[in-house]
Amino acid sequence: MKLIIASNNKNKIAEIKKILSPWFEEILSMREAGVEAEVEEDGKTFEENALKKASEIQKLLPGCAVLSDDSGLEVDALGGEPGVYSARYAGGHGDDLANNQKLLKNLENTPDDARTARFVCAVALVREGKAPIVLRGESEGVILRAPRGTGGFGYDPLFYVPRFQKTYSELTPDEKNADSHRGRALRKLHEVLQGETRA
Ligand code: IMP
Repeated sequence: MKLIIASNNKNKIAEIKKILSPWFEEILSMREAGVEAEVEEDGKTFEENALKKASEIQKLLPGCAVLSDDSGLEVDALGGEPGVYSARYAGGHGDDLANNQKLLKNLENTPDDARTARFVCAVALVREGKAPIVLRGESEGVILRAPRGTGGFGYDPLFYVPRFQKTYSELTPDEKNADSHRGRALRKLHEVLQGETRA
């Protein structure tokens, strides 16, 4: 079966291909599959958004499986914000610099030992004639007071993992994938698919 990834983000697609290629004949981005569609992410949870996106895109691609992911950052001192609004925290969609500045401002008076946070990723796989699979991965860290590193995207330069003594921006892509919320969710999906072939 062909798998279409409901995203045009090159980083995400490369990561998904690496982990899920054993289970599908071909893995394509939406653009490669010739689909242009915007699905409004108006759910209250990452799971709702991921499932909505995969289900709506799958309806446009009969016979194909569709995988989507929805992710974001939950900061404990901000009651879980920015959460599902991570991409548009500062207003415009995907303005990483403005989002990071807003986060730093909102945490200005938060002491170092209360700056805990986690990245969350929900993945949804929708296939015809099978129940959808929705899974979550989480990775823990703390929010620094200034960015560090040049790699990655989004909140990576502020997301510090004490175990590595590095931010996600200072890790190689492989190191980040081994720890990240998205990597964890995708490896869970890999295990579920492996279980299906054994059953
Ligand atoms: P989406 O899942 O593409 O909607 O991304 C949501 C937003 O969460 C992104 O725009 C980033 O701001 C943030 N985000 C999600 N995953 C990561 C990550 O791995 N590193 C840094 N920021 C992330």
